[in-house]
Amino acid sequence: MKHVHVFSLGGTISMTHDDKNTNTVVSTLNGEDLINGLPELQEKVKVSATSFMQVPSTQLTLDDILLLADRINNLEMETSGIVVTQGTDTIEETSFALDLLIHRHIPVVLTGAMRNPTLRGADGSANLLNSILLASSDEARGLGTVVVLNDEIHAARYVRKTHTQSLSAFQSNFGPIGWIAEGKPKVALRVNAYAGCPFGKMGPDVPVALLTVTMGDDGRLIRNIRELGYGGVIIEALGGGHVPTAMVNMLEELAKDMPVVIASRTGNGRILEQTYGYSGSETDLFGRGLLNAGWLDGRKSRILLQLLLRSGISYPEIKNLFHKFVNAL
Ligand code: ASP
Repeated sequence: MKHVHVFSLGGTISMTHDDKNTNTVVSTLNGEDLINGLPELQEKVKVSATSFMQVPSTQLTLDDILLLADRINNLEMETSGIVVTQGTDTIEETSFALDLLIHRHIPVVLTGAMRNPTLRGADGSANLLNSILLASSDEARGLGTVVVLNDEIHAARYVRKTHTQSLSAFQSNFGPIGWIAEGKPKVALRVNAYAGCPFGKMGPDVPVALLTVTMGDDGRLIRNIRELGYGGVIIEALGGGHVPTAMVNMLEELAKDMPVVIASRTGNGRILEQTYGYSGSETDLFGRGLLNAGWLDGRKSRILLQLLLRSGISYPEIKNLFHKFVNAL
């Protein structure tokens, strides 16, 4: 029988009323509680659980995810796949970090819930069931880390939470890569798992700022970025990768000291490379040493840059690797 191990981190999927709160919910269910809610798996898949953390996902940090990746990479038990349950608010970031950090060739599936277990139509147990079925199936092999909610399978590198409450909150740039129907996972579009991540031993956290450009922006928030201790900046630029002229010199100066990445605030599509020639256009910015996020959105770019900065490699090497990753997508 296939064996799937679940790491639970908290989040809405684990939240019910506690003694003090009968209106609001907090995390009360641990990993064992979650898997005990799925007796129908008994004959099909062996499931075990570790309660890794029990927090809302707003509390998660990259340090937590580094520890989790380490646990998964060094897990001694024989498993067909791993499922991680957590809050949906940061799943788009944690899943991408795990995708980059896990080098074991087993499926890793992240899931959560949009409706907590006290609500009608709660989706957590269905999402967990689907995730375990996927993690134990051959369909998920070679995909790296994926996210499962609402019967859909999303690639970690493209998935994003796009709605505050909807059951279909999770969407991807190119749509889902697969579905789970009648308990059977089907992967229709395959993404290639990253082949061996070059991150060495991780050093302490290097903060990376994420700034969204707005109409008429004069970039004053950028002025103090160095003093605030940031080691890199992601600019969620306008449209295909554009900023107002007022920001151009500031960004060029900053890019001499630290990586400055241009992503798009639109949330979809690739950053342009060779279309516009005006001041603040993509060709102008790349000519001034800024980095191109390609298909990655601002949040995913930030995770990639944080991991590269923590690896302690040189700025030119960070530029090379960032470029390599973006082109491998
Ligand atoms: N605020 C919750 C969290 O991210 C939302 C969720 O789990 O869906 O922990």
